[in-house]
Amino acid sequence: MNKHLEQLVKLSKFDQDIVGFEPQIKTQNDKLNIFLKTVDELNGKITKICVEIDDAKSKRMKNDIHLKELAEKIKEISAKYDMVKNEKEAKALQLEEEISKEQISFANNEIVRLDGIATSKEQLLEELKAELATEESDVEELRAAISKNIEELEVKRDVVYKDKSELVEKIDGKILSFYEKIKRWAGNTAVVELKNQACYGCHMKLTNRAYSDFLVTEEIFTCPHCGRIIYKAEESLAE
Ligand SMILES: [Zn+2]
Repeated sequence: MNKHLEQLVKLSKFDQDIVGFEPQIKTQNDKLNIFLKTVDELNGKITKICVEIDDAKSKRMKNDIHLKELAEKIKEISAKYDMVKNEKEAKALQLEEEISKEQISFANNEIVRLDGIATSKEQLLEELKAELATEESDVEELRAAISKNIEELEVKRDVVYKDKSELVEKIDGKILSFYEKIKRWAGNTAVVELKNQACYGCHMKLTNRAYSDFLVTEEIFTCPHCGRIIYKAEESLAE
């Protein structure tokens, strides 16, 4: 293979490798983000449940206060019985007493209900906190593993960068700018193989005439359809 072409094939492979590092690093960060999302969701659930527990407890407190007021009222009613003058007053007092007693029984039932809610939510809260602790320690472990992976990828990338810059120094300026020009629109497919007489950049077949020119040329050859630099695939080199 032509020395210049050989250099460009290598250069193009380096460029492809460099581009390939970004998605690998992103995959690592994505993995961590999935775990972080779970932690966020757990924290959200915990906050919500704490609000619900506070709500049940504050409602219970209101019922406690109400119960005390009702107990006072019952006392007042009992005291009034001594001062009752007629049956009408007695009946009114009795009715008032009945209503207060009903309210007491309602408040007591509410307290039982609210305590039940608070207890079951507190239990759930403990479970969520335990789940969160596990998740957080998993995240720390994963974070360490991921930053190690990313570091390794960055080291590998630096090696490719270094190899690339060493290669670039050796490449003839005109050849390099020719490559850069194609790369501007073709991205990382500026240099492609020719397999089965077809360009692997645009997938168009070379005419027999162009193909025979390609086979004999010692120069850098570009695809007549798309303009990418083409080189012989391994198997056709072996032929
Ligand atoms: Zn082509």
